Amino acid sequence: MASASAFKLDKLSLPQAGELITLVNRKLSVPDHPVIPFIEGDGVGPDIWAAASRVIEKAVSKAYGNRRSIVWFEVFAGDKAKDKYGELLPRDTFEAVRGCLVAIKGPLTTPVGGGFRSLNVAIRQEMNLYACIRPIRYFKGVGSPVHHPEQVDLVIFRENTEDVYAGIEWKKGSEGARRVLALVKELGHELAPDCALGLKPISQKASQRLVRRSLQYALDRNKPSVTLVHKGNIMKYTEGAFRDWGYQLAEKEFGDVTINETQLGERYGGRQPAGKIVVKDRIADAMFQQLLLRPQEYSVLATTNLNGDYLSDAAAAQVGGLGMAPGANMSDEIAFFEATHGSAPKYAGQDKVNPGSMILSAAMMLEHIGWQEAADKILKAIQETILAKTVTYDLARQMIGATEVSCSKFADHIISRM
Ligand code: NAD
Repeated sequence: MASASAFKLDKLSLPQAGELITLVNRKLSVPDHPVIPFIEGDGVGPDIWAAASRVIEKAVSKAYGNRRSIVWFEVFAGDKAKDKYGELLPRDTFEAVRGCLVAIKGPLTTPVGGGFRSLNVAIRQEMNLYACIRPIRYFKGVGSPVHHPEQVDLVIFRENTEDVYAGIEWKKGSEGARRVLALVKELGHELAPDCALGLKPISQKASQRLVRRSLQYALDRNKPSVTLVHKGNIMKYTEGAFRDWGYQLAEKEFGDVTINETQLGERYGGRQPAGKIVVKDRIADAMFQQLLLRPQEYSVLATTNLNGDYLSDAAAAQVGGLGMAPGANMSDEIAFFEATHGSAPKYAGQDKVNPGSMILSAAMMLEHIGWQEAADKILKAIQETILAKTVTYDLARQMIGATEVSCSKFADHIISRM
């Protein structure tokens, strides 16, 4: 039974069955019946969660029989939280996710008008989920706008807490804008008086913890390279510093397992030696071209917040779009998996959209807790379902001869192939 004493919950109770995932020496210790919080999400959230949770449960039971199961723990954010708590992001939800260490969520609608800029940004900031991790891979048979989508096999590490997303802005003509303009003038720069202004903080600590995480990931999974993506040719002290701090960190903490491109050429004649990860860097605009022209040369990308936002959607478009793009937001302790698309309100309740992003995020979650066999069952069954061309509308319209099925039927087809 999970130890409820670890939590200060207001309107929630921990499920009686199940045990808590814990950290032992900074590594996850996962019981056979872990309690995992989930947020259904707004809009299409209930549709994709209903489909995805069935797929996850089937994969776990096929892989482990009765020996293992997930004990779901519903927690609330967005519309459902408003009904239950009168607020969009109750403290209970943070408390439950912090206590359980691993959680999964559907999409949340960004409230219009004051308050939160975005519930997702608020969740990331509140729990210091500093790394947004998005694997982008191709499933054979998915329609794509490029000739060789199978060459795309990337994992994007996007810094989640800083950059222009930190939300430090001053409206044109405001007291803040006036004072900052005066300071900027004092520092020797003349700006137009009708400027709106925003700050772009990039710190050494946040940059290096993100790069550290991407290098550790590459090392754990035998990935050939980590590319630091930045716009340092223009923004030298922010984006350029991200690159420099990244290289410094690689040399200092991963020096025995990494080489840079100069060393690759000079010491190894351009041939990557076994056991070494190549650390390289690319300017962001060039990286967008490289993604299209030479994606096979890239594996793990580590980048700042805004670059990462753009790059992950662009890369996802090359392999079938957002409906198939999984993601997770992580701190050093917590891993929060999520469907990367929004709540698509116009399709809410129609049992229509693709649950693939949620299902693939769940597969990432199973990998994260060490249940690789269950994750593999999901990936294999999704691949077979796509090859059989029984897919949701978004994939069907990009494929010749496909049969369009509903969200729930797509899940049925995946389950039937496990
Ligand atoms: P959206 O991703 O919700 O939808 C845009 C379009 O993409 C949809 O109309 C649909 O055509 C397509 N689409 C999205 N998900 C799909 C799926 N699973 N299968 C098939 N097609 C899919 O983006 P939006 O309309 O800009 O945002 C709607 C709301 O979601 C906003 O409030 C926004 O702030 C929020 N949002 C939340 C998240 C999140 O929770 N992580 C992410 C993005 C947007």
